[in-house]
Amino acid sequence: MGRRFEKKVVLITGASGGIGRATALAFGEEGARVVVADIDHDGGRQTVSLIRTAGADASFVAADVSRNADCEGMVAHALSRFGRLDIAFNNAGIASPGFPIAEEEEIAWDRIIGVNLKGVFLSMKHEIPALLKSGGGAIVNTASVAGLVGTRALGSYCASKHGVVGLTRAAALDYIDRGIRINAICPGATRTPLLESWFQNPGVEKHIMQLHPIGRPADPVEMARAVLFLASGDASFMAGHAMPVDGGLTAQ
Ligand code: NAD
Repeated sequence: MGRRFEKKVVLITGASGGIGRATALAFGEEGARVVVADIDHDGGRQTVSLIRTAGADASFVAADVSRNADCEGMVAHALSRFGRLDIAFNNAGIASPGFPIAEEEEIAWDRIIGVNLKGVFLSMKHEIPALLKSGGGAIVNTASVAGLVGTRALGSYCASKHGVVGLTRAAALDYIDRGIRINAICPGATRTPLLESWFQNPGVEKHIMQLHPIGRPADPVEMARAVLFLASGDASFMAGHAMPVDGGLTAQ
């Protein structure tokens, strides 16, 4: 694939596992310096050591994306450790408990929206001034197929991810003329700890697989490739796009 991100500084939230870790490794393989932000300290340090073992530079910062001060702090960490910010992948997210709306607790709703939607807002709020100082850059947000279509028993998750799509489009328009391209990926089912936790509920695995015409879940690396494409110069005319990476789910 070459080394499209030589010396670029990339900040990734939710990079202690799953899609975030796979993407952090992929950026490292293409020469980027990677800031790994997460609430999971052990997983984050493992991601950093995997990147370093592969020959790139990386640094962990503890950050809960639902907290304004933490989002400010993760960007400050990128600037103090690597001197600039070029790319951000706002990927941290959590799953809904899986109840129909009338049975969902208010506290669960607040937590899902707080991490999945407000977290993306707070992350971009602090990343954008740093990207402007670098002369521009790219942001990729993680939405979901649940940001494009409805899914039963995932009301708060669906609402949060539809929100990420809307926020991505609005933010893209705010900054397109100042050199920042902002897009989102909309993953289908991807083999990560988050998906494994959903699969614990009876019948969910079979149901989710039936939804995907390709007949299998994605490997996290397949999401990483899409993120790197959107963050790279190969996607230089793309902004405000919510790109399904979903094995055909939303083609139906
Ligand atoms: P994962 O649980 O494997 O990884 C999520 C990471 O986010 C974890 O490292 C976790 O510690 C971190 N995190 C959780 N809350 C956080 C917070 N408040 N602040 C900072 N970090 C936090 O999940 P994943 O499947 O890799 O999910 C990554 C993203 O992809 C999420 O936004 C998820 O909604 C989205 N997504 C996943 C799938 C899938 O099938 N796996 C499908 C569509 C969308």
